[in-house]
Parts: sequence; C-alpha cells; structure tokens
Amino acid sequence: MTVWVRGDQLTRRRGPLADRPGERVLFVEAASFAEKLPYHPHKLTLVFSAMRHLRDDLRQAGRPVDYRRVETFEAGLRDHFTAHPEDTLVAQRPQTDGARQRIEGIVADAGGSVEFVPDERFLCSPERFDEWAGDDGTYRHEEFYRMLRRETGYLMADGDPVGGEWNYDDQNRETPPDDWEAPEAPAFEPDETTREVAAWVAERFDGGYDEPPFGGDWADPETFRWPVTRKEAVEALDHFVTHRLAEFGPYQDAMLGDEWALAHSLLSTSLNLGLLGPSEVIERAIAAYEDGDAPLNSVEGFVRQVLGWREFMRHVYRREMPELATANQLGANEDLPELYWTGETEMACLSDVVDGVRKRGYSHHIERLMILSNFALLYGVEPAQLNRWFHAGYVDAFHWVTTPNVVEMGSYGAGVFATKPYAASANYVDGMSDYCSGCPYYKTKTTGDGACPFNALYWDFLDRNEDQLRSNHRMGLVYGHVDDKSEGELDDIRERADEVRAMAREGSL
Ligand code: FAD
Repeated sequence: MTVWVRGDQLTRRRGPLADRPGERVLFVEAASFAEKLPYHPHKLTLVFSAMRHLRDDLRQAGRPVDYRRVETFEAGLRDHFTAHPEDTLVAQRPQTDGARQRIEGIVADAGGSVEFVPDERFLCSPERFDEWAGDDGTYRHEEFYRMLRRETGYLMADGDPVGGEWNYDDQNRETPPDDWEAPEAPAFEPDETTREVAAWVAERFDGGYDEPPFGGDWADPETFRWPVTRKEAVEALDHFVTHRLAEFGPYQDAMLGDEWALAHSLLSTSLNLGLLGPSEVIERAIAAYEDGDAPLNSVEGFVRQVLGWREFMRHVYRREMPELATANQLGANEDLPELYWTGETEMACLSDVVDGVRKRGYSHHIERLMILSNFALLYGVEPAQLNRWFHAGYVDAFHWVTTPNVVEMGSYGAGVFATKPYAASANYVDGMSDYCSGCPYYKTKTTGDGACPFNALYWDFLDRNEDQLRSNHRMGLVYGHVDDKSEGELDDIRERADEVRAMAREGSL
C-alpha cells in the first residue's frame, strides 16, 4: 500500500500519513492541473511549494517518497503502477461522490486501486451532517453552528453558550478609529524551494489565456508571503492569536483602503492545505479568551467562522454538487466585466480590492462579499463566471469552499442556505469603509453624471428581480423603498444602470 498525498491534503500529524508511518508516500505534481484556469501565480507557488516541502520533510524523517512531476495525473499514476504493479493507494476522501468516482476511474485505468479514509481537515463528518440536515434541501447555518458548539463543547458552559449569547455580532460591526494601525501581517520569506517553484511557475504558466493573468511580476518571489510548511503555519497561528485576534471581532466587517488585512487571521491557506487543523486553531483562540488575552466577541466571531461557516460550506458543497456550480435562480446572464481582471476602474472600492487580489491573491471576507460579489450580483453577472474568477484569483480557492461562497452566498444562485441576496448600495459601502471619501463617484447620487454605480445598479437589481424577491419576507422593507420611487425615477435608474454596464463593457467605468 502507498499513502497518496494530494496537493491540498498536506496533513501529517493525522490521517493516513500518521496512521501508516512505515509506508511509501506518493505525490503527483501534475502541471496540466495548473493550466485549467489562469491561476494566480502565488496560488500555484503555494500549492507546489507546500507539496515539495512536505516531500522533503518526510524524506528527511526517513520515509520512502515517490514525488512524480508529470504533465497529467493519469501519467503520474501510470508511472506509479508501472513501478509498483497492482498497488493500492490510500488517500483522504474527496469532497463529492462525483470526484470520488472520477478518481477511482483514473486509478483503475492506470492499473491499481484506491481506498479513501476520512478527510482530516474537518471536524464534522459527512454522516453527522447528513443526520443533522435531513433531506429537505435547505440548510440553516445558525442551527448547524449551535449543534457543533454543543457537540464539541467549544465555548460552552453547562450546556449554555459561554457569556450567555450564541453570537456577539452587535459588537462586531465597528470601523477602526482614524489613528488605528493594523498589526503588521506576517510574511514568510521564500526559501530556495519556494524560489525555485516561483521561477518555474513564472516560466511555465506565463499566459496563453484569454484573460490577462493575475499578479504583477510573476518571477518575483519576494512578493509571495504565505506559509508553505507546518512550522510556518504554526507561526502564522501564533502571530494571529498574539497580535490580531483581540481586534478580529470588532473590525471583521470593516474595509480600509490602506489596510488589506485588518485583523483577519490570514489562516485560510494553511487550513485549506491541511497545514493547520481546525481544532488546534479553535482551541488556541479559546485559550486566549480563557487567559484574558482576547475578548469573547472576537473569539466567538472567529470560532463561528472556522467551526461554523467553514464546516458548513464543505457539506453544502458535497450535497449540492454538481447543480450548485451552475445554479442561477435569478437568471443573471451578464459577462464578468474585464475590470475584475485588470482592476482598471475609477470606482475606488473595486479598484483597490481587485488590485489587492492581483498583488496577493487575497482579500478579506467582507471585500469578497460586499464589494466583489455585491457588484457582480447587482450588475447581473452569471454566477459561474464570477466563481471561475474567484477560483483563479485567490490563493485559498478550492472548489468546496469557493463555489458555495460565490454561487450561493455571494450570488444568491440557489437559495439552499442564503435566505436573501447580499445586495447593498453605496450607503453600506460608505458605512463600513473609507473608500467613498476618495472616490470620484458621488455616493449619495443614484442617477446622472458621476453617480456611484452601486446605487443605480442596486435599485435596478431590485426592480429586475421583483418577481422572485418581493415575496421574500426578509425583503419587505427594501421593496417598501422601491414602492416609494415614481415610475419616472425608476426609468432614470434603469437608464443609469444600462449606462454603467455599457461603461464597464467598454472599460471606462
Ligand atoms: P478570517 O476572516 O480570519 O476567518 C477565519 C477563518 O474562517 C478563515 O481562514 C476560513 O477558514 C474560515 N471562514 C471564514 N468565513 C468563511 C466562509 N464564508 N466559508 C468558509 N470558511 C470561512 N474562503 C476560502 O477559504 N477560499 C475561498 O476560495 C473563498 N472564497 C470566497 C468567496 C466569496 C465570494 C466569499 C464571500 C467568501 C469566500 N471565502 C473563501 C470565505 C472567506 O472570505 C475566507 O475564508 C477568508 O476571507 C479567508 O481569510 P482569513 O483566513 O483571513 O479569514
């Protein structure tokens, strides 16, 4: 038997690498996989460098490792079974049955077999989720989160939530004062392995796509900052808990033009690659609360993201694929504007956030949801196109987490867990950020020259989707405001929304 380590399952302390300490290890580094999309170069560098580091660590520990650099998975597996005929591979379970069957097929064609064991990157098993969710096809995150809090005992005391409340969101919507300085985000200096990978990525994947590729100078490894080893990931966790966790809660929904990370944890890449496990991350945060180093609103807010949303998304994806990938209940069919690739727009918020994605392959949650997705939702972008863009652009993007976040949470594509679209006008952006003060568009204008594009698009979105949204009881209040608008006002709004779309298409927004 051979332990097959896939690129996002680099968990060494648990799972098959820990359970089968003497066995051979196989890695397949397939270049064609990296050509499926115009991926951000830092994403490719991250995954390949983390794989190669684990390879080296395992070899140093004396384990036999076959590291196959090949064009396709098929070729890598064929090479493996030629060297070890009729071997059985042991790997962590893929997210969906469809993916499991595909992998089983590829392995069988290559001449061997594969056994799957649980995915150690998550706490809630598929069986437990299915038992909790039943069959009605809708999911409520809050109930799931409370169920997991009770079952794990995290932040619980005698069966009740610590502090008496399940959430402290009302304390978590602050914007930092003008003189606030974000704690410096950690950056992990690329070592020789990472530099070698970055150079190879720059040379091998330097274009050939319809879209302009992400990132600036591809060959410059200096701009790469993400942890690629377990040791660095643990340092990143320490850094977060020591320097950022206390302020994570209050500023988690804030957006500042010159603070790309605020007090966010920057741990998604390490969690998604398996360099960190969810329980250690959650337990460190809770220990900081118990030691008096971080307030409950911050710690609960963080636990909610990792224990609640992250686990929840994984199961929604598992159960709702393949339909979720193309879900489009609002019938949105606009193409994604080019500015998502280039960052070329006068809109201060969009330009800054896209610029950050181009530079680092990252933006924090509220920028993903309330700037990038919100704009695409109001504009009417087809959810699958937005999903593809997120998938290509982010260092932490993997189908199981990107698709439910983009198609459902961001685009209201399926209505399986989102109870209403996250749609907002400039009023929201202005309330939660400092973008509008430096923007040439007028945040208070809806129509006419220089009006903020978010405003006309927002009312136009409500107007266009009235048949589907008005009956939603959570939308009652906003449709009350739509009703206050005269037919003339609505005509002007429709005209301005068309103009905004035309400007985006011709690159002059
Ligand atoms: P923090 O804000 O510090 O949060 C802590 C951790 O909680 C994250 O590292 C992550 O593991 C987890 N988490 C928080 N929110 C979510 C969520 N909604 N779903 C799943 N896990 C969550 N996350 C990804 O990991 N990959 C993606 O491709 C991705 N795409 C997204 C696209 C959209 C449109 C939206 C709205 C969200 C997306 N998210 C994605 C979720 C979330 O935005 C990121 O996990 C988070 O911004 C990562 O930064 P951080 O580690 O600093 O997170």
